[in-house]
Amino acid sequence: MAVPKTYHVVTLGCPKNDVDSEHLERLLTGGQLVPVAEAGAADAIIVNTCGFIEQSQEQSMEAVRALAAGKREGQTLIVAGCMTQLYGRQVREEVSGVDHIFGVGQWQDVARLLSVDVDAVYDIPESAAKVTGPSAYLKISDGCDAPCTFCVIPKIKGGLRSAPAGLLMREAQRLVEAGAKELVLVGQDTTAWGEDLGKPVGQGLPGLLRMLSDAVGPEVWLRLMYAYPSRVSPQLIEAMATIPNVVHYLDVPLQHGSEATLRRMKRPHNIEKVHGFVRELRAAMPDIVLRTSFIAGFPGETDAEFRELLGFAKAIEFDHAGCFTYSLQQWTGAYEMADQVPDEVKHERRDRFMRQQMKIAAKRARRFVGRELDLLVEGTGEDEDGDPVVAGRTYREAPEVDGLVFASGQATPGARIRVHIEEAADYDLFGRVV
Ligand code: SF4
Repeated sequence: MAVPKTYHVVTLGCPKNDVDSEHLERLLTGGQLVPVAEAGAADAIIVNTCGFIEQSQEQSMEAVRALAAGKREGQTLIVAGCMTQLYGRQVREEVSGVDHIFGVGQWQDVARLLSVDVDAVYDIPESAAKVTGPSAYLKISDGCDAPCTFCVIPKIKGGLRSAPAGLLMREAQRLVEAGAKELVLVGQDTTAWGEDLGKPVGQGLPGLLRMLSDAVGPEVWLRLMYAYPSRVSPQLIEAMATIPNVVHYLDVPLQHGSEATLRRMKRPHNIEKVHGFVRELRAAMPDIVLRTSFIAGFPGETDAEFRELLGFAKAIEFDHAGCFTYSLQQWTGAYEMADQVPDEVKHERRDRFMRQQMKIAAKRARRFVGRELDLLVEGTGEDEDGDPVVAGRTYREAPEVDGLVFASGQATPGARIRVHIEEAADYDLFGRVV
C-alpha cells in the first residue's frame, strides 16, 4: 500500500461511534493526513460500523458493499467497529474489495496501518467528543456490565471502563474553547460512571457533574443520556436539580413496562420504583423533560404484557419515547428463547405504541406554548414567504433524537438566543426570536 495522504471516514450508528470516529480523525490529522469530503477522492476510506441490531448490521453491510463497489485503483478500504468485532470474517468473505478489518477500540492500529506515528501524536484522549453545531458529545465511559438478554453490547464492547475525571475535565474545556455551548454526556450507561474506579454504585455521576460544571462554567449546558433505571438515585436527582447548568432533561431507556417481560430481559423490573423516581424527578424539577425507549415483541411478550407497556407509558406520559421492534441477536440470552413473536405482531404493536405516544407527546409539548426559552441555533433558512427562520434546540430536545424548534427571525448558527414559543406540533415547537 502506498503511503496515504488523504482519508474519508464513514460513521454508522450511535453518538458513541461519532466520538470514536472523532478520535480516529484526530489521530489521522495529527499524523498529517488530510480529510476529504468525498469517499472517491480519498486514498484511504475507513468505515466505522454499527452492530447493535440486525437492521444496523444490514445498513453497515450495505455501506461497505457500496464503497467496495465504487473503489478505484490504489484506494484502501478499511472496515472497523462494532459489526466487524462480531462478524469480521463474514465481511471479508462476503465483500471483495475490503482490504483490512479491525474490531472495536483498535483506532491506533488503524492509524498505524495508515503510517501515522501514533506515539508521536498520541496525547489524544479516547473520550474525544464531537462538535455538532453548538453541541458536543462527551463519552464518559464505554462498555457495560449489565446482563440485558436482548443486548449484544457487552459482547462487542466488553465491561464498563470509565474515563478518568481529570481527562474529562480537560476534554470538556477543549470543547468549550472550540465553541461548544452544550456537552451531551454519553456512554452505554452514564449512571454507572466511576463504579470501575471504586465509586459506590450510582454515586459517581453526581460528583462528576459538579466537577464538569466547575470546569466549564455555568453557561454551558450539561445533558445526560442513557441513564440506567436502578441508578437514578436521590443524589443524582439532587445534583440535576441544584447544579445550574445541568439541563432538566433525562433519557432513561426503560425497555418495557411489564414486570414479567422485564424479568425475561434481565432488566430492573420493579415498576413501582420507576413510578417513584419519576415522581421525585418531577417534584424536584417540575419542568423536567423525560425521554425513554421501549422494545415491542420481545420473546414471550403476550398481548396482556404489551397492554401493560401501553398502560405504563400512558400513566407516566413521557415527553419523548421511541419504540423499537425486538431484533433477534446472536450471542445474547434471548437468542435461544422460545416464543419468538412474529414480525407482523411486533410491527403492529410498535405502531400501536407510537400512535398512543404521538398524542402524549403533543399534549406534553403544548405545555411549552407561551414560554420563553433559550435556544441553541443549529441552522437558518427561510419560510415559504421568504422570511428568515432559525432552527435549533431548547433544553427540551437532545441532538439527533428529538424534534426541533423553528422560530421566525434572524440569528447566527451556533449562537444561543431567546425564543417565544407560540405553537406545538407532535414533535416540534414553533415560535419567534425575542
Ligand atoms: S444497559 Fe444498555 S448497553 Fe448495557 S447490556 Fe443493557 S441495554 Fe445493553
